[in-house]
Amino acid sequence: MTAFPPRSAPGDAPAQDQFLTVLSREDAKARWDAHLPRERPAPEVVPLALALGRVVATTLPAPIDVPPFDRSLVDGFAVVAQDTAAASEAFPAALGLTGETVSCGVMPRQPVLAGTATVIATGGPIPRGADAVVMVEHTEPGPAGTVLVRRPAAPGQGIGHAGGDIARGEVLLRRGTVLTSREIGMLGATGVAALHVYRRPRVAVLSTGDELVAPGEPLGPAQIYDSNGPIVAAAVAENGGEPVSFGITADDEADLERTLREALGSCDMVILSGGTSKSAGDLTYRVVARLGSPGVVAHGVALKPGKPLCLAVAEGKPVVVLPGFPTSAMFTFHDFVAPVLRRMAGLPPRGEDSVAARVPVRVPSEFGRTEFVMAALTKGDDGLVAYPTGKGSGAVTSFSQADGFFAIEAMADHLAAGTTARVTLLGQAAIPDVTIVGSHCVALDAVLEVLADRGITTRSVSVGSLGGLAAAKRGECDVAGIHLLDPASGRYNRPFLSEGLELLPGWRRMQGVLFRPDDARFAGKTPQGAVAAALADPDCLMVGRNQGAGTRILIDGLLAGARPRGYWNQPKSHNAVAAAIAQGRADWGLAIAPVARDYGLGFLPLAAEHYDFAVVAARRDTAGVAAFVAALDDPAVLAALAALGFERGRD
Ligand code: AMP
Ligand code: MG
Repeated sequence: MTAFPPRSAPGDAPAQDQFLTVLSREDAKARWDAHLPRERPAPEVVPLALALGRVVATTLPAPIDVPPFDRSLVDGFAVVAQDTAAASEAFPAALGLTGETVSCGVMPRQPVLAGTATVIATGGPIPRGADAVVMVEHTEPGPAGTVLVRRPAAPGQGIGHAGGDIARGEVLLRRGTVLTSREIGMLGATGVAALHVYRRPRVAVLSTGDELVAPGEPLGPAQIYDSNGPIVAAAVAENGGEPVSFGITADDEADLERTLREALGSCDMVILSGGTSKSAGDLTYRVVARLGSPGVVAHGVALKPGKPLCLAVAEGKPVVVLPGFPTSAMFTFHDFVAPVLRRMAGLPPRGEDSVAARVPVRVPSEFGRTEFVMAALTKGDDGLVAYPTGKGSGAVTSFSQADGFFAIEAMADHLAAGTTARVTLLGQAAIPDVTIVGSHCVALDAVLEVLADRGITTRSVSVGSLGGLAAAKRGECDVAGIHLLDPASGRYNRPFLSEGLELLPGWRRMQGVLFRPDDARFAGKTPQGAVAAALADPDCLMVGRNQGAGTRILIDGLLAGARPRGYWNQPKSHNAVAAAIAQGRADWGLAIAPVARDYGLGFLPLAAEHYDFAVVAARRDTAGVAAFVAALDDPAVLAALAALGFERGRD
């Protein structure tokens, strides 16, 4: 394969001429690794208050004993144990009080001699001569300056001995330990006010692309927000680095080179994203190749997502060009960059946990590339189920909403539905209390929020109404959100339930025709009249909906067999329809009322659509599903429905 041939100039370093082919993942890693620095990161001293999350650089012996002296563990009387050996309820031992009271922070002045006792508080230093402390509960006042001890005390009882907690010289913290509140507690107890930790590698983070705008700035036409910059910076911090943002550069070689040289001069590692696809003309690759020797060691990896990845080393520092597409960028960061960064930060390699899970759907894959499929885990009837979260590598959610990923080997062109895959976890996989699969609706978010407030964890996977129904039938979710019109009966949802599923009424939402409010072809008409006008005008362009969407059934009903221009433009959401009309890429389409309102569009009401839930009957009584059912009538949900113009459905 020669998909990404380096455009090497004759004077290029020889290392850059070796990569005429796309490398395997393992080869790419090995080549990069061979040029990376091996030495341990440099230590620096931080005060205890700033040590959280840092990595211990020098193994630390305890400088003192904790506790530093023998002290009382109870409120009571310091005694000589032998004096109490014969004590009982019936014949308590009478001991003469020394008259001293030892409290915390005060050194006792008098010894405890045979036949005497000293009043002592928890934490008080044990007086010389005493070898046990009797709890006050096991004593009673005796006549004139005595105390009566009703139980025998064993030597050592009630005493915390010096060094019993931490002994001076014992290893307190080992090199490589990540400091959490627990380790900080031990440091505090031994009086350590500052310690050596590894210096965090400074990692330059930079995004390239003419279309990119920093979050917080207004978004112009044809622009998108820079999501890679913030994600990479956060992931750098999660893996022990100190992100240094170099912002966004335009697709301009001179600009990019200037910024990269500055980044390389002041940081230990440089991560940029974008400018790697063919359309970008390998812009970043060419600039990175000029930075220094050995330069680019891998460009193009037989990996999906992430093929355009470019790995380089310049001035002894790793330089990475992540692919522009967010999921590709995140995955390649996780797979290639995080291990290197962790090593540079002195962190232990990340433990990679994996679980077995059934993949319920067929997943197509490109022959010849190892494909990593991002997946969300849910609990099925017979074990875990892994749902691909894929909206493609261009989507930020494919990675962000995934619990892990599984691989489809290079020599396969698909993974069959029902295959059990090994899912590598991206973090702690928490199986949610309720899984909702199906069509997404804005009002569902209000329900999920109420559940979250009650500590019920949820996962919602958007796969459309039919996908949700199929998942519910297979027992791969608890609840499916559906809005399906049965054209034969004119009824919603119920006709689609099969055995083992119950209908839980959700809400009614108004569907209608969307148009720009100044478009005279539609304003003031009925939906049918508006569509007739649209069909009569050859310049009028509609926007359709995908097969399987409830709205599609309404569209096909309205069109009665007509297929006007734009019908085959079939986005998967109400918002996409509204955006197309608002931006003038289409003139009309069908969507729900609140979306029309959000986009400032005109709306001709057509039909109240029923958005309901198919509940897996066998799961109805689980705590999660019971909470879900209750949440539907929560005042917060009812208020959200009202605000959206929806109405709570009843059976
Ligand atoms: P490129 O490699 O520059 O051709 O980018 C490939 C795709 O990723 C394009 O659709 C870019 O708009 C997108 N992309 C590139 N950089 C970013 C970024 N920092 N944040 C979000 N999307 C990006
Ligand atoms: Mg670009």
